Amino acid sequence: MGPPGAGKGTQAMLLAKDREIAHISTGAMLREVSKQGTELGRLVKPIIDAGEYVTDELIGRIIQERIKQPDCVNGFIFDGFPRTVEQARMLSNMLEDIPSVMLLYLTVTREEVISRLEKRRGEQNREDDSVEIQLKRLRVYKEKTAPVVDYYRNKGCLIEIDGSGGIGSVNERLKKSISHI
Ligand code: AMP
Repeated sequence: MGPPGAGKGTQAMLLAKDREIAHISTGAMLREVSKQGTELGRLVKPIIDAGEYVTDELIGRIIQERIKQPDCVNGFIFDGFPRTVEQARMLSNMLEDIPSVMLLYLTVTREEVISRLEKRRGEQNREDDSVEIQLKRLRVYKEKTAPVVDYYRNKGCLIEIDGSGGIGSVNERLKKSISHI
């Protein structure tokens, strides 16, 4: 968890490799769906491109199917999910017999987020990475996703990691902070 530009995708990928667990990025799955000319693809694309969230109901269905796949038997790291308190509740219901859910929260200052997003704009070809849409995504994050951090904090399942600096140093801090899990 963390705002757009916090390094979620990169760190989730590294962690999945390190722990040999599945990396489940709802953003990547949705971008894939939106490229297809299916009815679902046509529904999803304008929502992503506008920096809005797709419905909790759709995300719930996607996650439910995904975690049944064989590569998930040893565990998984979600990247970009749960993004609303409702999604967090859905996840609790889905995983009722799996006790160890932890939220890894990457904290980064707004200045650093903005500067990373500026850099990403030049490097990746994401249609939701224009300046206006990036700012919109930050606003949506603050309104809908930031409360998810408190949801897990109140459950005692939150690990905060300083997400500033380079990929390697963030990864070292992250690994240290979860070495007991
Ligand atoms: P991301 O790659 O995680 O930044 O996600 C890109 C976009 O996909 C987001 O801006 C949303 O439009 C959509 N998205 C990804 N994950 C979710 C989610 N859990 N709930 C709702 N929308 C999502």
